[in-house]
Amino acid sequence: MIGYDTSDARDARGSEHRSTDATESAAHQANQLLTDGGRTPPVVVKIGGARAVDPEGAVGDIASLVGDDRDVVVVHGGSTAVDETLERMGIEPTYVETPGGVTGRFTDDETIEVFEMVMAGKLNTELTTLFRNAGVDALGLSGVDGGLLTGPRKSAVRVLENGKKKIKRGDHSGKITDVNDSLLTDLLADNYTPVVSVPMLGENKDGSVTPVNADADRSAAAIAGALGGELIMLTDVTGIYEDPEDPETLIESASTAEELAAVKTAAEGFMTKKVMAATEALEGGAPAVYVADANSDAPVTDALGGTGTTIHRSVLDTDDSEKKPEVDQ
Ligand code: ADP
Repeated sequence: MIGYDTSDARDARGSEHRSTDATESAAHQANQLLTDGGRTPPVVVKIGGARAVDPEGAVGDIASLVGDDRDVVVVHGGSTAVDETLERMGIEPTYVETPGGVTGRFTDDETIEVFEMVMAGKLNTELTTLFRNAGVDALGLSGVDGGLLTGPRKSAVRVLENGKKKIKRGDHSGKITDVNDSLLTDLLADNYTPVVSVPMLGENKDGSVTPVNADADRSAAAIAGALGGELIMLTDVTGIYEDPEDPETLIESASTAEELAAVKTAAEGFMTKKVMAATEALEGGAPAVYVADANSDAPVTDALGGTGTTIHRSVLDTDDSEKKPEVDQ
């Protein structure tokens, strides 16, 4: 198990999956990033959980990629299904806003139970079955299994209620600081396709562990970072739009810090989390992140071909010339 977000781990991974520049650019064109050992880092595909997302296209496309010997790790969401189940049980889903303006679920005692049942239970089992029907040797697991996604539990969250900052206690959520990437690489080496679901494994202050909520996009980002693989977030829109209401304003790519800033400005609501996840994936070691339409016939191939929004690793580069004084002192 490694700390995916430490710079040491990042540097080590960087040297692992980078070969020569020429090889790298050719590999990019073929969507094949060769490792020194000749193995391509997996592509991490997050399938959105919105009602409007039909996984069929993604499943068929991933089956073709796996058939062509491409390693794929699937991560799925399912917030809509969690909300529907909560409502059927007479529980009103609770969403809170952080002082930073990010909206997230407040996961109380009852909600985490439903979350486990729906995410790791129903949805993970169903998606794994869809893959198996498509001929993929899919293996479902949650962030708890093998300590796949681990980190400190947060039981108190800062929220903004009626314009006032408050601390809300009793939350079951966590921050991923460790990814058991060797578990995934072992499974992939055995030709399994991991289908990953939250919850994650939250570490309590007393040293015990408990299943807790984590955002599926950010979980996928942690995995992509840890594996040094490309991250594809498939969702119910064709990418990130400059005007969230207008698909004609699709932002095709971001390669510089300024372009990333424009993407951040454009993203509203839940899209804010995807952009946050994209940045985390790149910081962790992912070479590129794609936000694209889940509902096409070949959504993963299309995304890798650039049909959605592509965020390149170069958005993290800072322009050193800006820091230097303009004239000699
Ligand atoms: P999923 O459940 O598939 O992970 P989310 O609901 O978390 O997807 O995020 C996708 C949603 O983000 C879109 O349906 C759209 O309403 C919203 N959104 C906010 N800002 C933008 C934007 N700039 N461009 C596109 N969609 C946006």
